[in-house]
Amino acid sequence: MNDPFVCARCAAKGPTCCELTPGCEDLCFPISKYERERILECAPDLGGFVLQPNTAIFIENLLRLFPDQRRTVRELFPLGGTHYRLALDEFGKCLFLGPEGCRIPQEARPYYCRLFPFWTSENGQISILEVAGCLAQQENKTAGKLLKSLDVSLVKARKIHEKLRIAWGFDSPPE
Ligand code: SF4
Ligand code: SF4
Repeated sequence: MNDPFVCARCAAKGPTCCELTPGCEDLCFPISKYERERILECAPDLGGFVLQPNTAIFIENLLRLFPDQRRTVRELFPLGGTHYRLALDEFGKCLFLGPEGCRIPQEARPYYCRLFPFWTSENGQISILEVAGCLAQQENKTAGKLLKSLDVSLVKARKIHEKLRIAWGFDSPPE
């Protein structure tokens, strides 16, 4: 059943998917140039981005997300290179996070944020990125129930994932 307030309930108890444990910044997903420019157009005075080294843990995480793209992951994010991630405060909260939630308009948010807690495999199969503190996951144990709870259709999830893959450099934009 759709639950429009599950993320607000999650935020009230905290922490949410908009926070990382300080010291675990390596686990933050990358933000492409296209996504940064789009965000800065809509929210120029909020949040920000940080240049982060491509560490072994960061690359390992990407390899888990793209198990069939090992070579491409290493080409796009070589060890010792850098990528941009969301800037966080001293407590690990995303700087775009406000008292009422994300301050970036929904359509301009990073694709990873728009997709979370879902992921899509090469063949389009939907999966859940398991996070212990996610209230929606705690209350909905299957992908089908979770999709309904967060009011996300399979078509929409696949579409966002396609856009993410293009923005991050895994696929070419359509002609
Ligand atoms: S950009 Fe918005 S949705 Fe994404 S982590 Fe930051 S506050 Fe949360
Ligand atoms: S997606 Fe999960 S972790 Fe993120 S705010 Fe909603 S319930 Fe919380």
